[in-house]
Amino acid sequence: MLKRTKRRRSIAFTVDGNGLVVHAPWKASEVRIERSIDESAKWIIKKIDEWSNHKPRVQRWADGERIAYLGRTVTIQIVSDAIIVPAVLADDWRLRITVADSGSETRIREAAIAWYRRHAARNFIERIAHYSSTMLLRPPRMFLSNARTQWGSCNAKSELRLNWRLIQAPQNVVDYVVVHELAHLTEMNHSKRFWKIVERHFPSHMQVRKHLNEHGHWYLDI
Ligand SMILES: [Zn+2]
Repeated sequence: MLKRTKRRRSIAFTVDGNGLVVHAPWKASEVRIERSIDESAKWIIKKIDEWSNHKPRVQRWADGERIAYLGRTVTIQIVSDAIIVPAVLADDWRLRITVADSGSETRIREAAIAWYRRHAARNFIERIAHYSSTMLLRPPRMFLSNARTQWGSCNAKSELRLNWRLIQAPQNVVDYVVVHELAHLTEMNHSKRFWKIVERHFPSHMQVRKHLNEHGHWYLDI
C-alpha cells in the first residue's frame, strides 16, 4: 500500500501483519519511490518474512495468568467483589484485580490495561524528565499512544507519543525509546547525525534494538 502525506519529506516503510506500507511525500515521483523500495528490498523482505512466521500472542485474562511488567513476570490474581477498586501490584508480584464477575475476561483485561497505562504514564514522564535534562532539551509534552506497530513518535510541536505497551519491557528498553524520540526533537530523521545523538546518550542502543526486534511483536500483541 502507498500512503502519501503532505508534510513528509522522506520515504519510509512499515511492515506489519497486513503487509508493506510505503510512506511517501505528497509529490514523490514513481521513479523515486521505486528506487527507494529497491534500496530497502533486503530489509522489506526480512520484515515480511518475520511477520509471516509470526504467531500472534494469545493472552488469557484470568486468575493465575501471567503478564509482563518492566521485564518481570506478574501473575494475575482475581478478587471477586461488588466494590470495584483499581488493580494493584502486591509485593509478591501479583496483580490484584477486583471484578464483580470473575469470569469476565473483558473486565479483567480492561482493569489490567488501565493499570498498565497509569504506570506507563508515570514511568515515561519521569524518564523523559531525566533524559531531557541530560540531553539539554526542554521536556516535551507526553501522550500515551495505543499504536499497534509503533513504539513512539514525536512532532515539531514538541509532543512525544509513547506506546503504553512499552511498560511490559525492561526499563532500559523504555529508556532507549525515550532517547530515540528525544533525539528526533533535534534531528527529525534517521541520519548519521541522529544516530550519533542516540549513541552519545544511550550507548547500548544496538542491544536494545535487537531485543525489540525479537520481542516487539509479543509486546504489541497484548
Ligand atoms: Zn525514529
